[in-house]
Amino acid sequence: MSQEDASPLAPAGTVRHDHDEFDVQVSGGGGPQSPAPRSLAPPRLDEMSPQSLYDKCLALARNLWWSWHPEVGNMFRELDPIRWRQLDHNPIALLAEFTPERLEARAAELVLYSRINQAYRRLKEYLAAGTTWSNVHAGVLGSKPVVYFSAEFGIHESIPIYSGGLGVLSGDHVKSASGLGIPLLAVGLFYDQGYFKQQLDIDGYQHEEYLQNRVDNLPIEPAIGADGQPIQVSIDTRSGPIHAKVWKMAVGRVNLYLLDSNVEGNKPEDRQLTARLYGGDTRVRIRQELVLGVGGVRAVRALGVVPGVYHLNEGHSVFATLEAVRGRVERDGYAFDDAVRQVARQTVFTTHTPVPAGHDRFDGGLVEEHLGPMRDALGISHEQLMGLGRVEPHNHGEPFCMTVLGLKLSRRANAVSALHGHVSRKMWANLWPWRVEEEVPIGHITNGVHVPSWLSWQMLQLYDRLFPANWFRRMGEPDVWQRIHDCDPGELWETHYALKNLLLQFVRRRLSRQCRRRGECDEAVEMARTVLDPNVLTIGFARRFATYKRADLVLSDLDRLVELISDPDRPIQIIFSGKAHPADEPGKNLIRRIANLRHDPRTHGRIVFVEDYDINVCRHLIQGVDVWLNNPRRPLEASGTSGQKVVLNGGLNCSILDGWWAEAFDGHNGFAIGRGETHANDEITDRRDADALFAVLRKEVIPLFYERDSDGLPRTWIKMMMNSISSLAWRFSSHRMVMDYARACYVPAAGGVSCDMASR
Ligand SMILES: *Cc1c(COP(=O)(O)O)cnc(C)c1O
Repeated sequence: MSQEDASPLAPAGTVRHDHDEFDVQVSGGGGPQSPAPRSLAPPRLDEMSPQSLYDKCLALARNLWWSWHPEVGNMFRELDPIRWRQLDHNPIALLAEFTPERLEARAAELVLYSRINQAYRRLKEYLAAGTTWSNVHAGVLGSKPVVYFSAEFGIHESIPIYSGGLGVLSGDHVKSASGLGIPLLAVGLFYDQGYFKQQLDIDGYQHEEYLQNRVDNLPIEPAIGADGQPIQVSIDTRSGPIHAKVWKMAVGRVNLYLLDSNVEGNKPEDRQLTARLYGGDTRVRIRQELVLGVGGVRAVRALGVVPGVYHLNEGHSVFATLEAVRGRVERDGYAFDDAVRQVARQTVFTTHTPVPAGHDRFDGGLVEEHLGPMRDALGISHEQLMGLGRVEPHNHGEPFCMTVLGLKLSRRANAVSALHGHVSRKMWANLWPWRVEEEVPIGHITNGVHVPSWLSWQMLQLYDRLFPANWFRRMGEPDVWQRIHDCDPGELWETHYALKNLLLQFVRRRLSRQCRRRGECDEAVEMARTVLDPNVLTIGFARRFATYKRADLVLSDLDRLVELISDPDRPIQIIFSGKAHPADEPGKNLIRRIANLRHDPRTHGRIVFVEDYDINVCRHLIQGVDVWLNNPRRPLEASGTSGQKVVLNGGLNCSILDGWWAEAFDGHNGFAIGRGETHANDEITDRRDADALFAVLRKEVIPLFYERDSDGLPRTWIKMMMNSISSLAWRFSSHRMVMDYARACYVPAAGGVSCDMASR
């Protein structure tokens, strides 16, 4: 029996190191070390009734903490591996299929008692931990928590309330905030149909399927307000109120609150408002954003929380600032301008979009319909309100832009990589016409990834053996990762090879399942079962099929590609995956073209397309590829994070010098496509970049991969893997990212001692 999730999850058994990150002490910080004493003796069986065993499992399933502890996920999987996979690795749905008695019988059979007990105890200790990085370095937030807003959160594949990179970034931010002990609550939307599942038909054409998220299968519960009642918020518009209820989801030590407009009292179309991510027209969009921003601030207020900081992750939630201002005007009696100044001081705004067209804009009519009652309360005119969202406040032709409002109502704003910082300062320079471009007050904090969520079990084992015992708590320090150079090259290569094999098994299972579902012939199913070769250089390309990401760059000259694929001695193979937006016909056609390459005899089955890219597919890919290809049209990739996940697992990046890679590449830790040039137009850019891509593949990537010593090892390649890990892993983790936000933004915004990199 094959298990789709074999690779990311731990083999049964022990945990070598205590990986509860950062709970106790961080270098340089004070605070006593106080690990709670642990009883290692297995509990006596009679201590646990079937019901209490079941309750412990349920408690584990109801906190997403389990999702970055592979030994806990593994335990759930063992209960019923087939259902586990069929249920998208959802432990609550799995447990719903067990009675306490059956669970007990299964646990006895698998000898799971002590593991369940240990996991449960560790979760309790984690939630109770007294001393964290934040206590030491960001104490001021204790009484003034951060409220983090985002339109999507990618925490785990079983909770489909994300579409792509922005969501996964928010999820990783929340997980690191939990690990560091930052007092933070997160606010998002509950999409009861989520984002779509992708299926390709026999023609290779994408179809979208929306699932109905079942509330009782998700780790959420109604959020209870300070008054002891379930929270419900209402937002007035000129066309009637919109109501929303609020769900609470526990992600380690952080609570995520999700607003849901599917409540009685709403018009039928409003009950659908939060059904899907980024569905619908601009009117749906502004209504969703009203629920997220204005509704979100009201929900936090109903919880009885007084925020110290508002962190608005991308423009969708920026209406939150207006609601915060309204609170100060109405309740505290401040004049509008004073209230704006106070709220701006508390607000951190992160922009992610390097093209002007990517920013949400609304016309005056939509703004008046949805924010009319708000501006009445603020005592400002329609033109004054519109001015807050315009670069030129009095330009009546200019629509209301969420990013402009975000920049005007925050004192700290940042882009998500160094290059994106330059692009953003240039793009918004006309908001500060009296400043030179370098002094436009938009800084940058480069994105990072949550190491425990993306690191494979196999590499974790290897690091555990090599690195200092407390490395998990010190993973933001470069010297910890230098130890990778002490690794035996053969061992590193074998570990990578094992992961690559797991990836190929995963891909074959997926492909044969796809073939069977489409009713293809036995021969095709059989071919899918044996496709791809672990000894061939394997390139991964997986991301949204947005035009600027240019999934077709490598296909732009099929003859050149075929030459590389069919080289008898040094071939390559490519695994593609990714979704096109439902309305994006060119994107869908591109997917069809790639998917159909498998019928082209010249590709020898060495180009495959895996359906339904999500966190699970991503995890398999980034853990097993030799090379991760990224070729966006520079400078349109604000940061990108998937390549950072690859680094942790020993894969090498081959990328345009855009986003994070522009500051990460040093000539020895991966491959660069081109030299970061910009050309006159897209056509020239695409042609030159394609040339550069083929040049680097032919002259650098392929020769290096196939250059073997007498032991069969690619020594120089392995050296480059080590360079990649040692120079990049520590820098591009979300722990580093959240610590940067805490020091440069949260602490000063909450009124603590400032180190004001992005302030103005
Ligand atoms: C990490 C991740 C992304 C981000 O990918 P980039 O193309 O690097 O921005 C997108 N989708 C999923 C499912 C991910 O896990």
